[in-house]
Amino acid sequence: MEKMKRRRIRVGRVIGLLFACLLAIVLLFGGAKVIMSLFHKEIIASEYANVKETNKLEDDKMINEVFKETDKETKEEFIYAIHLPDLDEKANTFIKDFVEGIKSEKAKVTHIDYESMNAFNQYKSYIITATTYSEMDGLNPLNQVSQKKYYVNYDQEKMITLDDCIRGKAIDILSVENKCKTEQLQLVKINESGITIDANGKLIDYKYDENKTSFVMNNPKIPSILKYPKIDVEKRELDPNKPMVAFTFDDGPAPGNTEKILKALKKVNGRATFFELGSLMEVYPDTVRAVCESGSEVANHSYDHPWLTQLPLKDAKKQIQTTNDIYFSLTGNEIKLIRPPFGDMNKSVASNFSEEMVFWDVDTRDWESRSTEQIIKVAKQYIYDGAIVLFHDIHATTIPAVEQLIQYYDSLGYQFVTVSELLEAN
Ligand code: ZN
Repeated sequence: MEKMKRRRIRVGRVIGLLFACLLAIVLLFGGAKVIMSLFHKEIIASEYANVKETNKLEDDKMINEVFKETDKETKEEFIYAIHLPDLDEKANTFIKDFVEGIKSEKAKVTHIDYESMNAFNQYKSYIITATTYSEMDGLNPLNQVSQKKYYVNYDQEKMITLDDCIRGKAIDILSVENKCKTEQLQLVKINESGITIDANGKLIDYKYDENKTSFVMNNPKIPSILKYPKIDVEKRELDPNKPMVAFTFDDGPAPGNTEKILKALKKVNGRATFFELGSLMEVYPDTVRAVCESGSEVANHSYDHPWLTQLPLKDAKKQIQTTNDIYFSLTGNEIKLIRPPFGDMNKSVASNFSEEMVFWDVDTRDWESRSTEQIIKVAKQYIYDGAIVLFHDIHATTIPAVEQLIQYYDSLGYQFVTVSELLEAN
């Protein structure tokens, strides 16, 4: 009996010992693995924690964070090393969205860092770069998943975008040249020779001295096309159930006459479109600004009234571009429409312009009759709801006709709209 008992004890001990050894081995290896991986992560984390002090402004406030996150369900671990500028609330909100977007990609290691620069002691630019790695040994560039960039720019304390640096027409031209949408153009940084633009991933150096008619920045060292303060034109609500008519006036500005038309329009809360010549805009800037300030529209009737299709294309483009530039320099607003002189246009020439070509539905032939009564008669005979009506504000006989027609059609319930408003309403 005793023998058997002792033997049983011995067997139990051996099993116990074996179990203990096994446990020890498991613990040892497991522990070592845990320790090693922790050590490894520490290396990675400390590597990313090293912030490159170069390319950062001295007065930058910074956010530095190195941390690990574990997915609650999969227990998978993720390492983040984040170095960001601490900017104003608005910028920080955008940056936070950017970081959250990167984190949602669930890369093993995410490293976010930035560089900042200063231009003319006025502009500050921040380029934030997020690099993600598919493996824990994120130091190996082969494991890099993606790199994404985010840009924040300031003019003194105000956050600015590409629209604050260059005008709408310049953005339109860039989007055509780079075959991308205007929303895909982004301001990267401002430096002392120009700005850098990201055009859907392609970086463009846009120099001040090569693009003198494009910049609208508020710095004496940067060329600006603006000669006068920008005029803000409020968009207004129209009643789609009431009839509309678009009065248009060619060949001005005509100081005195043009203002009389604006006055008549104001009485009925109306607007019209003035297809003006660039050469006359230069001479009468106050009249041009008065039209813009009244809410009426100024559009392009070329620089000095040539037959556009008869010109070399280069010169035709210059006729339009120069006039666009003059109007912008006077008001800070862009022209949207072209009425070619003599209605002379064809498809191949028109395809070179982003502006809409506008002709007319009713020609009052005011330039021919020079008779107030005749102009009124012709207009009343042909005007209908939705019509574009052609006049010339350079002729004094046209003005009383227009004043009477405005009162007459207002009494019939017509709304006096710009051509752009009419096109938008249809
Ligand atoms: Zn004309």
